[in-house]
Amino acid sequence: MVVSIHRPTKAIIDLKAIKENVENEVARLPKATNLFAVVKANGYGHGAIETATAALEGGASGFCVATVDEGIELREAGFSEPILVLGIVSVADIGLLSHYNLSFPVSTNEWLQEAAAFLQKNPVTNPLKVHLKVDTGMGRIGFISNEELLLAVKWLQEQSMFTWEGIFTHFATADQADDTYWQEQNQRFQTALACLPELPRYVHAGNSATALWHAEAVGNMVRYGIAMYGLNPSGTTLPETYPLKPALSLVSELVQVKLLEKGAGIGYGETYITPQAEWIGTVPIGYADGWLRKMQGFSLLVAGEYCEIVGRVCMDQLMIRLPRSFPAGTKVTLIGEDNGQCITMQKVAEQLETIHYEVACTLSARVPREYKS
Ligand SMILES: *Cc1c(COP(=O)(O)O)cnc(C)c1O
Repeated sequence: MVVSIHRPTKAIIDLKAIKENVENEVARLPKATNLFAVVKANGYGHGAIETATAALEGGASGFCVATVDEGIELREAGFSEPILVLGIVSVADIGLLSHYNLSFPVSTNEWLQEAAAFLQKNPVTNPLKVHLKVDTGMGRIGFISNEELLLAVKWLQEQSMFTWEGIFTHFATADQADDTYWQEQNQRFQTALACLPELPRYVHAGNSATALWHAEAVGNMVRYGIAMYGLNPSGTTLPETYPLKPALSLVSELVQVKLLEKGAGIGYGETYITPQAEWIGTVPIGYADGWLRKMQGFSLLVAGEYCEIVGRVCMDQLMIRLPRSFPAGTKVTLIGEDNGQCITMQKVAEQLETIHYEVACTLSARVPREYKS
């Protein structure tokens, strides 16, 4: 999808906020603990390259991405810090992992055997950097049995083309008030570590929620994602350990304002009919931008005043009810602050009955990202 720069709708990303969120976390971590900035999914929609640069300035020492391609994107942009791919990689992509010096997770001994067979026919130059993943209760990827895990460690120790660089797990409930399940997972991870003859360079268990609320258990690296963008990982369940600064605002402008008579239908399906004469404004953003149809009924800010979205959200436009006439070109704030009022991404998520992570990632490529530092 082409980035639509000839339209007043844009996301403004405050890179200073990202830098400060990272700085605040780094300041809390023990000196030997690394912060890897999680910039997967285009930096949670904020822009991978720009947010990675801001995170480095804030003291990050490496990056996490979800896919090989996201890792390559960072390397091609010139980043030389460690990059860990978080998802399972294909044996067929071993050449890329070696060439681009990307670390990656391994979850089974079968994968290692297939990789060894592949390497016999397709040798690589740089060693492959493996982080063994332990499934302690997320049920997603990782070794379940400690015997299998130990086999993998022993095998890796004998291989010249593999470097055993890390071991890690992922918590399913670090953002919840009840920590029973978190404790069980942590216990399983500690037991797995205790079975091993030695520990690798990186031992890590912390996403943002673990870093914020279970700082004692992060190992020597944290995978700092959502909090770096200034969003509370728990939504509203747990208080922020330190103030997180939201980095993204979403703005547009009124492109048309008109006074409609009582009884006028607004939008597809005529789901709103003006109960009296009303000022209606049109805003050029819709579900193709990630502003979904469920946003009908939500209110946007115009000059610090809340104005309800009336009628269905269209693919590219939506309509709001205005308290009075405003000139076309008046700023509309969909996420962020205006005149002392603020629409948070959390509020948008609540309207959509989801989490802010999804709101950030859903903002489509059509919306230009503008950076301020
Ligand atoms: C996405 C992800 C993270 C980052 O999680 P946040 O909640 O955004 O901090 C950390 N670890 C893994 C394995 C992930 O997939």
